[in-house]
Amino acid sequence: MRSHDPEKMSVTPLESFPPIDQWDDWMEYDAGAWPRKVERRSMLVPTTCFNCEAACGLMAYVDRETLTVTRLEGNPHHPGSRGKNCAKGPATINQINDPQRILYPLKRAGPRGSGRFERTTWDEVLDVFAAKIRQALIDGRKTEVMYHVGRPGEDGYMLRVLQSWGVDGHNSHTNVCSAAARLGYALWSGSDRPSPDHANAKFMLLLSSHLETGHYFIPHAQRIVEGKKKGAKLCVIDVRLSNTASRADYWLAPWPGTEALLLLAMARVILAEDLYDAAFLEQWVNWRQFLAAKCPDAEPTFDRFIVELKKHYAFATPEAAAKECGVEAETIVEIAREIGRAGSAFASHVWRNAAAGNLGGWQVARCLQFVAVLVGAVGVRGGTNLHSVNKFVPAPFSTPPPPEVWNDLLYPPEYPLAHHELSFLLPHFLEEGRGKIAAYFTRVYNPVWTNPDGMLWERVLKDEAKIELHAALTPVWSETAQYADYVLPMGNAAERHDLMSQETHAAKWISFRQPVLRVARQRLGHDVDLTYQANPGEVWEENEFWIELSWRIDPDGSLGVRAFYESPYRAGEKITIDEYYRWIFENSVPGLPEEAARQGLSPLDYMRKYGAFLVEKEVYQGHLTPLGSEQMEKAETQADGTIVKGGQAIGVVAGCVPRVGFETPSRRLEIYSPTMADWGWPEHTLPGYIESHIHRKHLDRDRGEYVLIPTFRLPTLIHTRSANAKWLYELSNTNPIWVHPEDARRLGVETTDLVRITTRIGHFVNKVWVTEGMRPGVLACSHHLGRWRLFDDAGTERWASAKVSCDEIEPGVFRFRRVEGIKPFVSRDPDTRRIWWTDGGVHQNLIFPVQPDPVSGMHCWHQRVTIEPARPDDQYGDVQVDTTQSIEIYREWLDLTRPAPGPEGLRRPRWFDRVVRPVAEAYRMQRT
Ligand code: SF4
Repeated sequence: MRSHDPEKMSVTPLESFPPIDQWDDWMEYDAGAWPRKVERRSMLVPTTCFNCEAACGLMAYVDRETLTVTRLEGNPHHPGSRGKNCAKGPATINQINDPQRILYPLKRAGPRGSGRFERTTWDEVLDVFAAKIRQALIDGRKTEVMYHVGRPGEDGYMLRVLQSWGVDGHNSHTNVCSAAARLGYALWSGSDRPSPDHANAKFMLLLSSHLETGHYFIPHAQRIVEGKKKGAKLCVIDVRLSNTASRADYWLAPWPGTEALLLLAMARVILAEDLYDAAFLEQWVNWRQFLAAKCPDAEPTFDRFIVELKKHYAFATPEAAAKECGVEAETIVEIAREIGRAGSAFASHVWRNAAAGNLGGWQVARCLQFVAVLVGAVGVRGGTNLHSVNKFVPAPFSTPPPPEVWNDLLYPPEYPLAHHELSFLLPHFLEEGRGKIAAYFTRVYNPVWTNPDGMLWERVLKDEAKIELHAALTPVWSETAQYADYVLPMGNAAERHDLMSQETHAAKWISFRQPVLRVARQRLGHDVDLTYQANPGEVWEENEFWIELSWRIDPDGSLGVRAFYESPYRAGEKITIDEYYRWIFENSVPGLPEEAARQGLSPLDYMRKYGAFLVEKEVYQGHLTPLGSEQMEKAETQADGTIVKGGQAIGVVAGCVPRVGFETPSRRLEIYSPTMADWGWPEHTLPGYIESHIHRKHLDRDRGEYVLIPTFRLPTLIHTRSANAKWLYELSNTNPIWVHPEDARRLGVETTDLVRITTRIGHFVNKVWVTEGMRPGVLACSHHLGRWRLFDDAGTERWASAKVSCDEIEPGVFRFRRVEGIKPFVSRDPDTRRIWWTDGGVHQNLIFPVQPDPVSGMHCWHQRVTIEPARPDDQYGDVQVDTTQSIEIYREWLDLTRPAPGPEGLRRPRWFDRVVRPVAEAYRMQRT
């Protein structure tokens, strides 16, 4: 591979890749024609994977003759993925060619949920939604328009759209994913995601399975391996022997829910053996606030802080942790010493996993970061950076003002500290009469299947009084789309524009997703005005959909919406998608215009050609950024070095230089959180251990109670969208219950025997896999399988789902039973006649009640269950759920909350992040 500027390109060239100067006309022999030598000519067009959050680079091969995509590979110019992909990246070709995909907009032709749809036009869709939204805006019903996103796959575009409409209507999937970890990290620094620098670490600690599935899977996996190759050690904390754990130097399988104590025991060893970084702590931790709150009579010195800290964590002995967690005390000490030796080159990460499973899981992330802070591993080479330092989101040509309203359906008063929207409680709130929705967009979001308590979703999605109009924007059928009024086919990774950046390592980069057939046609000189003209069928790209919809909402500009969709280059005219990105690349990405000019390209053409740009190569220590003279104007420096302006801390003096510090009210790393005290949780002001809802003491082993870990990912699947990738389902099509041999003996079951798993609201029937890769007393089941459909041609792809019946067998009690498994079928793809797998797995989430953590708002996924051999009437794949019970359990968890208002009558701390931040006044519960 030839690279024009190594500083701006991938640092690890692939062994072989077509040279850049042949990307417009690359010749290779057609493998299918062998042994004849038949030449095939392609154009190489880069794009960005849309199959998980990592945003790896892809390179599409577009046949010059047929103008079709023939395959997708990694893009070696992508700074995050560096040419590598997991199986899901190249499987994008399946998603393009899926014979079952939705190619035209569909409109419901029967009652909601009847499975009957007919083709409609985009014009009708746009007019219907424009009229509905326009009326809501005119009436001032600015909380009745909601966009609910599963996989965003972009940075900022949609927030801008919602802001331009003036609505508080962004909902997400975060609280079934990462809310807990986000809160734990945010309390320390204001930044709610970590950016571990694995490649330069000496010791890595993961509470997840990053080598095979984790957050930022491929970018992280390759850097973990790089770190290991350079001699770093890896410790994995996971109750399950994942592929990642199998490659680790240390695999710890603590009792689920005790991870925070395990981490505190490590912190205690680091403190007791003076392995901490005193200079870093003294400079950057809010120890004065700790002393003032915890020991107000103590002399306010750093030495006294250390004494008191040791006292506070005296309870977390390795022996006490060993007893509670089931990990040997010697191992805890050994790992703590390894971390101490690594010092600031200690990279760590928790995402989902223990944080997402447990009541109080947010303390797991907070305790992990506590260990990192102790050894000074924050923001430095080999340590754990803040996501806000490594992620780069360029500004668009204009930004609408913040909304003036606060939507309680998104941020309800019971959860003032949640990170973020209480997305999975939306149906519960609607059932309680907290509001209604006039126009609802689900976008790559499948809550009926993905969320707990899916039957309640089904109920409200069918209720036209609660949700008046619903469009499912989706590249694929889903269990949720079948309840929509309109099903709108949206492009996948090779069929749409988006701009993404992720904190994959100690750098800043952007990646451009683009509709590769449109770009290929334009390279050949064809005119393409809108992306759908080049996509299969009438598959639209969402960005153009939102431009068109916004224009129709406000055709004359009287609502103030249209102005944000007028071209920055042609006054008063509708912006094109080329212009939108052209402006960003010309004006908001440092270094891009210069690099493009060096190659004789415009910035937009550069991004169309390479698909990614490295904005900054090595980015560390954002907290040391000096404050400028303008910022320092009228600022005062206090005795402890805090720089205050207008009554608020804006920085800290460090090394005699005024610096920005961290994004907290104290501008320091907050070991002691005044916010927790102010908002009603004084017992949680410090990193601590909260006993989980699945703690051993809550289990009745005589009744056969176990903990079920239902959260682990498979490397080959995604939640919903992998259903349209035949290769991926050929690889993974079953999700048995992992059972330790001791438990299998006790239960009298062997691999493939059927068992019934029961929660408080229902049960499912699945087969077991007996394995020593599981802690005794704990069960696990991947959440990636068990797709179902009620109809032959709507619901979910046939190679991924069993057809089921759904019957109300008692009032409020529903039973799903398999009608037929997966089998071959005839389509335009001959492979569908060769389908050999029959299973598809068993769905779990329907029998999980909602269990919102009262602080973070995270759904606590782990379940207390009973397991027993299947009963005589049980059939594989049965799922039965009692919806009356599920509402009661929702109320039990709601009772654990401590609602707003907080100080000054606020709904939420102003310094906490919020998706689409409204005006300051909207934060007050009683507005003046
Ligand atoms: S890790 Fe796999 S699915 Fe995720 S973006 Fe990269 S290639 Fe796509």
